Amino acid sequence: MADISEADVRRALATVVDTDIGQDVISAGMITGLVVKGSNVGFAVEVDPAKGAAKEPLRVACETAVMGLPGVTSVTAVLTAHHARAASSPPPQKASGPKPPQKQGVPGVKSIVAVASAKGGVGKSTTAVNLAIALSKQGKKVGLLDADIYGPSVPRLMGLSGKPHSPDGKTIDPMTNHGIVCMSIGFLIEGDTPMIWRGPMVMSALEQLLRDVNWGELDVLIVDMPPGTGDAQLTMAQRVPLTGAVVVSTPQDIALIDARKGLAMFRKVDVPVLGIIENMSYFLCPNCGERSEIFGHGGARETAAELGTDFIGEIPLHMSIRETSDDGTPIVSSDPDGEYSMIYRGIADTVSEKIDEQLGGGGRKGPRIVIQ
Ligand code: ADP
Repeated sequence: MADISEADVRRALATVVDTDIGQDVISAGMITGLVVKGSNVGFAVEVDPAKGAAKEPLRVACETAVMGLPGVTSVTAVLTAHHARAASSPPPQKASGPKPPQKQGVPGVKSIVAVASAKGGVGKSTTAVNLAIALSKQGKKVGLLDADIYGPSVPRLMGLSGKPHSPDGKTIDPMTNHGIVCMSIGFLIEGDTPMIWRGPMVMSALEQLLRDVNWGELDVLIVDMPPGTGDAQLTMAQRVPLTGAVVVSTPQDIALIDARKGLAMFRKVDVPVLGIIENMSYFLCPNCGERSEIFGHGGARETAAELGTDFIGEIPLHMSIRETSDDGTPIVSSDPDGEYSMIYRGIADTVSEKIDEQLGGGGRKGPRIVIQ
């Protein structure tokens, strides 16, 4: 069976006319986030937020047009509210052949930072949550987006439950706790529903979590990425307008080999890596205060230097970090001036500086290293 190309999908969509504007959806620049994964296709149809649900027939027409392509087995089209373009911005691009990935900013959100790891269980979410709270302790307005749609843990770590409120049936208000606003797919699905996501659905879900949430004015939006460096992560890194990414790793060698993959992934899609955070770096004995390098320590610092990125900091392995995050009272919130919180707050200071460098320095990047 011939592969389906983005161009095929665009040609099919070019036959769908939005009668409100008398233009086809491709010429009108209404299709975003197009992903073709084997025989599965996903995209968003950007519509006037005022029209909202009234555009459902247009969404169905788009889905039907693409479904009609030979070889397509599933189509996921979602309606998203387009964001008013500034009067001075250029008109939507006319589609001609493949377009570079679109990275539309999120209105009101000054910077977006991904927290990533090459594998699960390294403490990525714990780090993301405590980093987000530590940034808010600097007086910043902070949001946390749980993009780990396969295993969302932000609701538990943030001590949040219940359903978010939708003021207009189209957008969703984020949930708030510990001084930061949060959104997670975990708020929107039933407790133990197994989640089976196909490639395009992952992107559609993320686009909605990113763009249909009333984030308000934010200095920083922290994105807790799904662990790993597969296609889903790569697509996210490519499509989300990231200011930069931090990679969390444990000191074990194997994890560090994985961390290299994490760095390589972001570099491939030109997202600046702000640096590496080493988690569970050493064990501080709660009784005698002795420091034990149980995993062999310092690997992340060396790897960072080797790979030409910065080492942002190290977080010890400590029961109080685990207990507080598992209880929904992250340590930086429950004990903001304690020893471990100060470590996260130091890391947040460094991350803040690096965000400012990226925003102020016109996207200054470190040396570009190609990793085979
Ligand atoms: P990931 O997001 O990488 O899968 P989590 O953040 O869910 O990892 O952490 C996995 C487990 O390790 C959780 O039980 C968490 O509480 C614990 N954990 C994470 N970081 C630390 C740490 N520095 N000290 C002690 N426990 C930690």
